[in-house]
Amino acid sequence: MSLYGDQVYSAFAEHVRGGKVEFDPQFRRRGYLYQVHGAAGVAALEANVRMQRELGVEVHILDVAELRRRYPSFRFTNVDCAALSPDGQVDPYAALMGFRKAAEGLGIVYVKDRLVGLELAGGLVKQARLASGGSLPVDTLVNVANCWAPEICAMVGMSVPIEPVRRQQFYFLAQQQIEPIPAMRHMDGLAVRIHQDGYIVGATAPQAGFKWELDHEVFESTLWPQLAEQSAAFEAIKLKSAWGGHYDMNRLDGNPIVDRFDKVPNFILAAGFSGHGLMHAPAVGRAVKEMILDGGFRTIDLSRLGWRRVVENQPLADDGPTA
Ligand SMILES: Cc1cc2nc3c(=O)[nH]c(=O)nc-3n(C[C@H](O)[C@H](O)[C@H](O)COP(=O)(O)OP(=O)(O)OC[C@H]3O[C@@H](n4cnc5c(N)ncnc54)[C@H](O)[C@@H]3O)c2cc1C
Repeated sequence: MSLYGDQVYSAFAEHVRGGKVEFDPQFRRRGYLYQVHGAAGVAALEANVRMQRELGVEVHILDVAELRRRYPSFRFTNVDCAALSPDGQVDPYAALMGFRKAAEGLGIVYVKDRLVGLELAGGLVKQARLASGGSLPVDTLVNVANCWAPEICAMVGMSVPIEPVRRQQFYFLAQQQIEPIPAMRHMDGLAVRIHQDGYIVGATAPQAGFKWELDHEVFESTLWPQLAEQSAAFEAIKLKSAWGGHYDMNRLDGNPIVDRFDKVPNFILAAGFSGHGLMHAPAVGRAVKEMILDGGFRTIDLSRLGWRRVVENQPLADDGPTA
């Protein structure tokens, strides 16, 4: 899924056509460095790297000496090794607008409203009621409402283990110039990457629930000390801005649910992206299109992300980061 996302985002104009206005999602191939420690962390990383290489990803394991040689500003304490893969970064809003303008160029109509209820008949969704008072006839309904997807699932009696978990991002400038770095992430959670003239560091809330107010304290008391521990260059930094959003966490296994609801077959759910939804979006969009127009998956088989595993409480085995 990520490989297909890479293909689409890195050659966006080629793949996303139809719009009168073109948007450039600013794909930059900066790399991704996932750092682990301890025997279990190293074993899981090695297994994932093997699997990724079999699928054609150019990913390499670097030991601490090699890490320090490539990124001399970093200490890599509490790291036994890391996997470096050639990931990219994009501007997600520009990508969203690119998809939207292309769809509109092909005749798709976007309605700004809120779904407040569904009318069913004969085990199928027939009408969608809107907050404005109107309603829309439904042929197939695709629930892609992210953290709000559970509310819409409840309208058809589908109970999903998805809940909002706040993720904050802090943008800061560093006084000292350092070597270019890939997006860096430690298995214990610290994640830092280049953004504009500085860097972004993120923090996930320990508890679930919508939290819209920013918590600057987490930057001052937790993230900054952790950053300074990683690199002396992150001792003298200046916080420029911050923002927060929410992951639609699938508590079962941290992977999305992409499937028809067996009890209401014209209701499709694609949610629970748990912090990976931007890179997986092109593959999910294509897979849902295949479900509707071709009667099943044709290019990437997403049946492992199906609804059955939720009903049977069978988490997808996955040693990667859960968010
Ligand atoms: C801080 C942060 C960092 C992230 N970093 C990454 C990353 O590095 N890589 C990655 O791959 N992913 C990342 N993600 C995750 C990624 O951003 C999401 O998975 C992705 O944007 C989800 O897209 P979506 O279309 O499913 O949901 P959204 O873009 O949230 O769209 C859902 C839409 O549904 C609408 N909606 C909700 N309820 C209703 C209703 N009742 N009626 C009508 N409309 C409704 C909402 O208004 C919204 O427009 C990050 C997320 C956050 C918060």
